[in-house]
Amino acid sequence: MDFAETTVADLRDSIARGETSARVTAESSLDAAEKLNDSLNAFLEIDRDGAVNRADEIDSKIVSQKAAGEKSALPALSGVPIAIKDNICVRGMQTSCGSRILGPYHPPYNATAIERLLDAGAIIIGKTNCDEFAMGSSNENSAFGPVKNPWDTSRVPGGSSGGSAAAVAAGIVPVALGSDTGGSVRQPASLCGVIGLKPTYGRVSRYGLVAFGSSLDQIGVFARNASDAAAVLQVIAGRDHHDATTADVAVPDYSRELEPEIKGQRIGVSRALLGEGLDREVRASIETAINAYRDLGAEIVDVDLPHAKYAIAVYYIIATAEASSNLARYDGVRYGFRAEEAPALRDMYRKTRDEGFGPEVKRRIMLGTYVLSAGYYDAHYLKAQKVRTLIRQDFLQAFEKCDAVLTPTSPTPAFRFGEKVDDPLAMYLNDVYTVTANLAGVPGISVPCGLSSEGLPIGMQLLGPYWSEATLLRLAHAYQEKNPLGARPKIHA
Ligand code: GLN
Repeated sequence: MDFAETTVADLRDSIARGETSARVTAESSLDAAEKLNDSLNAFLEIDRDGAVNRADEIDSKIVSQKAAGEKSALPALSGVPIAIKDNICVRGMQTSCGSRILGPYHPPYNATAIERLLDAGAIIIGKTNCDEFAMGSSNENSAFGPVKNPWDTSRVPGGSSGGSAAAVAAGIVPVALGSDTGGSVRQPASLCGVIGLKPTYGRVSRYGLVAFGSSLDQIGVFARNASDAAAVLQVIAGRDHHDATTADVAVPDYSRELEPEIKGQRIGVSRALLGEGLDREVRASIETAINAYRDLGAEIVDVDLPHAKYAIAVYYIIATAEASSNLARYDGVRYGFRAEEAPALRDMYRKTRDEGFGPEVKRRIMLGTYVLSAGYYDAHYLKAQKVRTLIRQDFLQAFEKCDAVLTPTSPTPAFRFGEKVDDPLAMYLNDVYTVTANLAGVPGISVPCGLSSEGLPIGMQLLGPYWSEATLLRLAHAYQEKNPLGARPKIHA
């Protein structure tokens, strides 16, 4: 079954009409996941039995509804295969967060987003590989080996949700969930040539998402087209009493809002962001995309985001500070892994954390502990919080002049394994365009907008005001309809 040829709404409809079945769909997705995992390493667990059982339940529900002459519509994602990043809790499956320290953990509950997907009839195929605790931009920080980019397996898929991005790009599943703390949905989406949506902070419940930077984390969606991203967001968005930071803001009908024209929409471009450090071919693709929006009737306006240049510094203070406190709970007592031969309690904590965490996670815990420590707190953490407010105000001002801001998603196309892994600063600079959205809490989407001369995907990012996911999806949809990528990765189902 070729998921590239259909939308999830059409797939659900053809399952409902009996033209195909949930079972056939699930098996084709599972077969592809198993077959391609040797070359991609995108999945850490594939749940054949669970997926087939759920698909059978859906098929028998359809049969009995038909027999009873019932016309009630099937839930929106009935029979749609989906992959889930391995830092989101799914009952009955592992949650490793790409780390050894969890043992792995088998959560006794579902994340709220998972509960809602299951209610909507989605079929969870497996858990996807990621950078350890979602810290990274290349997937090289997974304890279980890196995910390979399906366009070129000598290159990274991006991170940290690289497994979910690769699984969608390779056509193993039509849609997947990831998490985005500083770009971990948008950046791998860009490097793998798919759509990646990070909702407004508070749009999707974080209950059951393993915490990294709690004031930044948000579950996001990977899809091949805007309409599929809209269908998944529709299901997972909205208030949840398990997460006090979810907002009581009405969830629009995203699919319906895809269609209106984008004529007259104002797209903001900050020329200062298109300068230093940006790859020549990425810049050219962004210029072409800006012109494409002009052709679609959008108005291009200049905007200024004067504090964006501080975003990397601010993000790597705030994210590490929150990580150091969130990760304090992994002590060898409450979760899976415990180091052997530790004579006393303190040794056990120390050895467990030393053996259980990888180098990047340790670096972040140390950085975060340092910026929060007495004597340094004001100089680093407090100052970073103040600049965070300025970054947020930049966006509020920009959105007085435009409906969305357009930037590159990543400064370069997918880089090679090993190219940046020994140089943390070079790796962190990869996030220069994505971290601002998390610091400000605004939504962002990455949309494929071209290929490099080496045939690697390039992505553009659209950022909008709070709760403007419908606008972002509409802008993405209008662009993709007229400007399809027109190529597929070398490795695909
Ligand atoms: N690459 C960023 C980091 O390493 C973003 C991670 C994320 O969004 N989870 O922190």
